[in-house]
Amino acid sequence: MGGNSRRHYDVAIVGAGIVGLAHAVAASRRGLSVVVLDRAAGILGASIRNFGHLCLTGQDGLAREYGEESRELWLALAAEAGFWLRETGTVVVAQAEDETSVLEEFRDLRGPDDIVLLDAGQVRERVPVAADRIHSGAWLPRDLQVDPREAAGAIARRLRAGGVDFHFTTTVLGVERGRVHTARGPFIADTVIVAVNHDVDQLFPVIAETHGIQRCGLDMLLVDAELDGPLSSPLFTGWSLVRYAGFTRTASAAALRARLLAEHPDLAALDLNQMYTQRPDGGLIIGDTHYRGDGIEPFQGEPAFDALLALARDLFGVSDLRVRERWQGVYASAPQDFLVASPLPDVRVVSVTTGIGMTTGLGLAERVVDELYSSTSAQRLSEPTTSLSAR
Ligand SMILES: Cc1cc2nc3c(=O)[nH]c(=O)nc-3n(C[C@H](O)[C@H](O)[C@H](O)COP(=O)(O)OP(=O)(O)OC[C@H]3O[C@@H](n4cnc5c(N)ncnc54)[C@H](O)[C@@H]3O)c2cc1C
Repeated sequence: MGGNSRRHYDVAIVGAGIVGLAHAVAASRRGLSVVVLDRAAGILGASIRNFGHLCLTGQDGLAREYGEESRELWLALAAEAGFWLRETGTVVVAQAEDETSVLEEFRDLRGPDDIVLLDAGQVRERVPVAADRIHSGAWLPRDLQVDPREAAGAIARRLRAGGVDFHFTTTVLGVERGRVHTARGPFIADTVIVAVNHDVDQLFPVIAETHGIQRCGLDMLLVDAELDGPLSSPLFTGWSLVRYAGFTRTASAAALRARLLAEHPDLAALDLNQMYTQRPDGGLIIGDTHYRGDGIEPFQGEPAFDALLALARDLFGVSDLRVRERWQGVYASAPQDFLVASPLPDVRVVSVTTGIGMTTGLGLAERVVDELYSSTSAQRLSEPTTSLSAR
């Protein structure tokens, strides 16, 4: 994608990942002229390296609101752009009594629209997990799944067909009010939205430091496996119940966390989130581990992959997993879930600072573009915001 039709736009967006594309969707829906600038040769960042799991049910607070808004937008975009999206919800496999307790408490908090409790037999009917690994489970019907290798590219093509200009291999060097400086010269735009994920620490280091942004690296695998049937929805485990804020709000989650830490210090040290999705071609995405720092070592240790593969063999009751691909993903990580900063009038720096940008990015972008364009210009110019985050 390329083509330099002009250099003056209503909105310039830096970053062609899902968060940048989400802002392009929101701006172009409002009839604004948009250019998207990315330094890579294509869409290559976190937005193609993830599970494709739109896990809104497990979120809480602002993330849940953005997730709900994103859900409607994902459904509309999949219909418009014609990419693969499944409305199959998520299945949670509980492997012990304390995991069942979290699910029961979550059902009491949220109600049957968000979660349906399953007995072991019902879990087995939905996912090809070994019968002796199941204590109980749940189905989260509102969650969605896309193919991460396809969805962002399909959205970009749809945007381009609708008049949005894309310039790849175009590194942004700096931003000032009304102007984006790139390695290919300046672009003029009334508003600028910077959505560069963890690279906010390169373009806006002071903002990154102020908001405590670090980089989070993750180990992931794609395997071929003879499962006992298709994995027709994303699969969470007990480790997911101590990660996502919707579940960790339950009183039972603390005891579950303590038990997992005590029984599996090696897995806890990997900051494991044991979960799985299956791509349309049958490949099983396995993940993930988390390691944080100001810089991320590119050297992925084999013990993490060994652990992920051993867990998958055990859960699905298969001995033969053939590894097709291994990769590292990186995202921005901070104490708050979202960064929306305004270093200059009409410039917004936006990052999803936990691993839920696919789930929340479209809804977040609607809010940011609304804030930029629905208030009066005079008010907008004089009162830049610093954060839309709930916490
Ligand atoms: C392994 C993994 C699994 C995950 N699983 C899920 C999941 O199942 N569900 C979910 O909701 N979320 C998941 N996430 C999180 C989600 O993928 C991210 O939150 C989301 O993709 C971030 O989107 P982004 O557009 O901010 O970043 P990216 O997709 O990384 O895009 C940022 C873009 O900015 C560009 N850029 C950077 N600097 C510059 C510059 N100076 N000039 C021009 N361009 C620049 C980069 O080239 C890149 O294309 C996962 C993340 C990882 C890594």
